[in-house]
Amino acid sequence: MRYCKKCLMTDLRPGIKFDENGVCSACNNFEKQKHTDWDARLEELRILCDKYRGCNGKSYDCAVAASGGKDSIYQLYYMKEVMKMNPVLLSVGNYDWTDTGRKNLDNIAEAFSVDLIYLQPNTRLSKLMARKTFEEMGSPAWYIDALIYAFPYRMAAQMGLKLLVYGENINYTYGGKYDYETPSARMQMANDVVKPVWNKLLEDGSVTEEELNSARMMTLEEYDAAGMEAIYMSYYVPWDAHHNYEVAKRFGFRHLDHEHMREGTLENYNHIDSSAYALSGWIKYIKFGHAAATEMACRWIRAGHCTREEMIPLVKKHDKKLDQSIIDGYLAYTGMTPREFWKIMDKWYNRDIFYQDRDGVWHEKFEVGVGMVEGKRSALF
Ligand SMILES: [Zn+2]
Repeated sequence: MRYCKKCLMTDLRPGIKFDENGVCSACNNFEKQKHTDWDARLEELRILCDKYRGCNGKSYDCAVAASGGKDSIYQLYYMKEVMKMNPVLLSVGNYDWTDTGRKNLDNIAEAFSVDLIYLQPNTRLSKLMARKTFEEMGSPAWYIDALIYAFPYRMAAQMGLKLLVYGENINYTYGGKYDYETPSARMQMANDVVKPVWNKLLEDGSVTEEELNSARMMTLEEYDAAGMEAIYMSYYVPWDAHHNYEVAKRFGFRHLDHEHMREGTLENYNHIDSSAYALSGWIKYIKFGHAAATEMACRWIRAGHCTREEMIPLVKKHDKKLDQSIIDGYLAYTGMTPREFWKIMDKWYNRDIFYQDRDGVWHEKFEVGVGMVEGKRSALF
């Protein structure tokens, strides 16, 4: 396990690359942003929008894939207010909405005066999959994630819309399989952030292929046949999570603190629409040694909001914490007992970077910002 020399990302992150100086691809890609001609990029976006504006008469010009979060507002602000497009929002519901998340989604439609098409996921399947994909894949939110990726493409194609707008290219900004800079979100469907529908999920007959179909990504052939152009907004405008938050506040975006002071994160504005959903984010900690606190710390370090040294103690303190409300929400949703929950969790701990003591408690074998520490053990266990 190696840490990036500039940020606190580790080389265990799937798809991330480190250069010869020990710097991760996400840091290198962020540096490129500083030398990008953003006026020229905005002009590219304007040309693209000119191509589609009015293409459906008085109907929608484009679709914006949105959760209602800070990034959604940033996307919508550019498409509707700056580019003067007539967008429709495509959104997928959660397991369990926080009040704040629900208010934010309602607010975005009102603040920008847009229609919102919303997929309420199959509740039986949501509950079943929350349990099954936790047991089988260590990804309790797989079903919702798969819908988030699949639904906007399918819906936009069914509505005959040609332009579909996403926020950031996750592979480019965080590091991942397709980490080159591109405006096109065509390959997002194959970016490996969400595993495709796995036939093993169908084996016991509790789910049919038809029921799972909405979670199936469009194929590249289907995408090309639809004549669609899916884009990442982060190619056209500079992308900084904290800046997006500051912009979003100006349009009525609410952070979570008034509802819940959550543990395990450094901020209160990212992934706040559901607490059960956050379980998937935390599991990255036991699989790869980094979770929400690391990810946000890395972003802030890259953007110059703070230093690597300042962030090490905070990441050390917060990343390992799994908020009780996340566990409570998940157990209530799936009907699982705490004992079952932690037994399944044991399966997903990465034995290379954690060890389990004689009472079943897991301990890190690594040091945040440093890497593996030979012989690291707790004093008593
Ligand atoms: Zn880095």
